[in-house]
Amino acid sequence: MFDNLSDRLEGAFKTFTGDNKITEINVATSLKEIRRALVAADVNYKIAKEFTEKVKAKALGTENVLSAVKPGQLMVKIVQDELTELMGGQAAGINIKGTPGVVLIAGLQGSGKTTFTGKLALHLKEKRKLKVLVTACDVYRPAAIDQLTVLAEQVGAGIYKEPENKNPVEIALNAIAHAQDEKYDVVIVDTAGRLSVDEKMMQEISDVREAISPNETLFVVDSMTGQDAVNTAKAFNDRINYDGVVLTKLDGDTRGGAALSVKYTVGKPIKFISTGEKLNTMDVFHPERMSQRILGMGDIISFVERAQDQFDEEEAKRLEKKIKKNKFDFNDFLGQLNQLKKMGDIKSLLNMIPGMKKMMKDVEIDNSAFSKVEAIIQSMTPQERANPGLMSMSRKKRIARGCGQGMDDVNRFIKQFEQMSKMMHKMSNNPAMAGMMGGKQ
Ligand code: GDP
Repeated sequence: MFDNLSDRLEGAFKTFTGDNKITEINVATSLKEIRRALVAADVNYKIAKEFTEKVKAKALGTENVLSAVKPGQLMVKIVQDELTELMGGQAAGINIKGTPGVVLIAGLQGSGKTTFTGKLALHLKEKRKLKVLVTACDVYRPAAIDQLTVLAEQVGAGIYKEPENKNPVEIALNAIAHAQDEKYDVVIVDTAGRLSVDEKMMQEISDVREAISPNETLFVVDSMTGQDAVNTAKAFNDRINYDGVVLTKLDGDTRGGAALSVKYTVGKPIKFISTGEKLNTMDVFHPERMSQRILGMGDIISFVERAQDQFDEEEAKRLEKKIKKNKFDFNDFLGQLNQLKKMGDIKSLLNMIPGMKKMMKDVEIDNSAFSKVEAIIQSMTPQERANPGLMSMSRKKRIARGCGQGMDDVNRFIKQFEQMSKMMHKMSNNPAMAGMMGGKQ
């Protein structure tokens, strides 16, 4: 996401290479580029213009007293602060109170509503330790009910459904009553969408909202639709006055206009972002982290948070012992690979690491690199997996045949594995490094 915008913004700061001072002239050149970059990212011209005016006032009004800060760095900081402000400043939390708390989900068909309902259920269950019930109020598409049922099962949430009932208000009210009886903490109500904004859908959502008075109404929108996303967000807000926006499909090729202009245009904060089809690809939206990402600074905090979600202390201790004894094997490696995969799509993960986006710009990365390595390990016998020292030429040949890959691939992987185990073993026995690996000496 935002690749183009990031590149163009980087170009806009070129005026300030070295010690080039902040003057009205070179600020103007830079601002023109920034404005163009924003418009190209599908930000409305008026917003882009106002944005650059603010940056200009700050840049020319800032006395750079810190000689250690170069003018270019100062400009980047000013632009970063303004991007953060444009996207809402602070992260806006989700408000859940009452027994049960109620969250209503609205949006167009295909925006990712139902997927998000599952993701939110997982988030509330894991992060807030809440007992979650989801309900499907889509009375037009039976498939939507099935889809939510599967998701609920996957995340371990309860599901309430009435496939025969054609009245969404009744279903929502019954779901809440059911939640009270069964002592659920929160109910997430998924509603029916249409392909475009239409009066009947708005009336229906509005009726449901009035009847159930949710703590939180979230509007889900596909970020790939650019300015249309912003217009739809406005139309929904005018009608149902929701509390927050959920931007989906940010893993795609989106130019970023929706993320940058929704708060300004609609006045409601983005609360969550979704970056994939898997259930764990949802993050609370932090404007500051997002502006850092846009400016190519990565988002190491979100990266660490994702890693922590998957962190298993017992497993880490077990591995540490094995590494110390130089007993790290292919099964352990496979286990680590699976943990990494659970963190999400590899490309979006790499983009969170500062500097990585730029470095990997022209490198084609996808999750198939994982599959290759997995296939190699899966072609090994249980003994080979547990004893990397057993590897011989004839075994490698058999493995290559088994996984349908060349000897080069197998050799390369085994060599890399050996180097990695050696290095980890060395590190684990060095007291200065051991702390970095999570072990307390
Ligand atoms: P609904 O009609 O609004 O309920 O939309 P769905 O939840 O059924 O999602 C529509 C399609 O978009 C499905 O194929 C989802 O897997 C996919 N989808 C949802 N969220 C994301 C996302 O953040 N990224 C990507 N790439 N696909 C998504």
